[in-house]
Amino acid sequence: QVVTRFAPSPTGYLHIGGARTALFNYLYAKGRGGKFLVRIEDTDRERSTDDAVKAIFDGLSWLELFADEEPVFQHARADRHREVVDQLLELGAAYRDFTSAEETGRLRDEAKAARTTFESPWRDREPTVDDLSRPHVVRFRRPLPGRVVVSDAVQGEVSWGNEDLDDLVLLRSDGAPTYNLAVVVDDHDMGVTHVIRGDDHLNNAARQSLIYDALGWPRPTFAHIPLIHGPDGAKLSKRHGAQAVHEYAEMGYLPEAMRNYLARLGWAHGDDELFGDDQAREWFGLDGVGKAPARLDFDKLAHVNAHWMRMADDDRLAKAVLDTHLTRGHALAEDDESRLLQAMPFVKDRARTVLELADQTGFVLRRRPLQIFEKALPLLAGDSGERIARLRDRLRLFASWDVFALEAELKAFAEEEAVGFGKIGPAVRAALTGDGVSPDIAKTLSALGREESLGRLDDALQ
Ligand code: GLU
Repeated sequence: QVVTRFAPSPTGYLHIGGARTALFNYLYAKGRGGKFLVRIEDTDRERSTDDAVKAIFDGLSWLELFADEEPVFQHARADRHREVVDQLLELGAAYRDFTSAEETGRLRDEAKAARTTFESPWRDREPTVDDLSRPHVVRFRRPLPGRVVVSDAVQGEVSWGNEDLDDLVLLRSDGAPTYNLAVVVDDHDMGVTHVIRGDDHLNNAARQSLIYDALGWPRPTFAHIPLIHGPDGAKLSKRHGAQAVHEYAEMGYLPEAMRNYLARLGWAHGDDELFGDDQAREWFGLDGVGKAPARLDFDKLAHVNAHWMRMADDDRLAKAVLDTHLTRGHALAEDDESRLLQAMPFVKDRARTVLELADQTGFVLRRRPLQIFEKALPLLAGDSGERIARLRDRLRLFASWDVFALEAELKAFAEEEAVGFGKIGPAVRAALTGDGVSPDIAKTLSALGREESLGRLDDALQ
């Protein structure tokens, strides 16, 4: 059974790069009847915070990437990590290093000057009973000579000469397990078969592989995916725009759109751009992951989001718009939701995000008598009043409020008035919305409904 995991370090918000890593792991497992797990790598006690843990889970829930089991907290497993260190000591694959920190620093500098790799004098030295009572670290004894070869599912075969790596610390002098050790032990114990993560961890794969080998544990399949870059090709940073998943939520993107877009970021299935979760699960594979960094493209994201907005239930969009108004500090009326619901089919295809939809549906929630915006006032001047009156009288007799019928009716009206609709539309729109912008008039009328539309036209004629 395929088991994947997302293993974030809780030191900040959920970054979109992390979200994409989580998604790839999720899709890979789900497409193969496997399990997707989450592990919080909180071994760095100083940098890990509860807020960050919460932000990560909030981000994952928003994206609907739920783990199949309770999350594992790495810090809580320190005893188990120490147990494996003992195992490595017994196997002779690790040793106690009593060199002081200052002395290690000095030896490192020396090695650097001589262009060699630092080696601890304790690598080949048996400690006495006296030594054992002194503070020390435990280091991995890498096999020398030798090469470690990693067959990466994305990067291909990558190898390192063992002499170029160093004997990494497994246990610090305070007994705290180090990152590379903890990752190996946890991935092994969690039954992880595929490690899909950012390619900034490729070098760790070499070290981790040596630890797997020493323990006689099968290595997982590694897949190191290129990082996400900004639209200009530079490493993603704040100046490119939002980096945190929650910011995208706040900007009015839908989670399914985000999943669709993130899936395409660094992975491709032919030219397919718009696809749902089922398709993504079925199609996703590591062979489609590119070796070059993917570039964020905000236009494309908006385009993908617009698609998923059109597909979304009106109900859900109406609620999202109300939430947006609430967040903006607007008071809501009881019938706002039903008004929005009625309007939704006629307005939702113009918006690329929920925020745009909230802006564009402002006219629906306005209350009679409308205050006409200053810039719309001139639209109602001159002979528009009489024309609006004639249209209102006509619409009053008009039984159907179907958008197509309304459209035909408006056309007939313009013909009767012997003017192009361009001469009529702006004034009618101003009367109906108080504004100069809205969907076309037939849709605006449909969005408002019969009674409200006629009422607003009446008001404009007062
Ligand atoms: N905790 C690491 C990070 O957040 C990921 C390690 C891994 O996936 O193996 O970058």
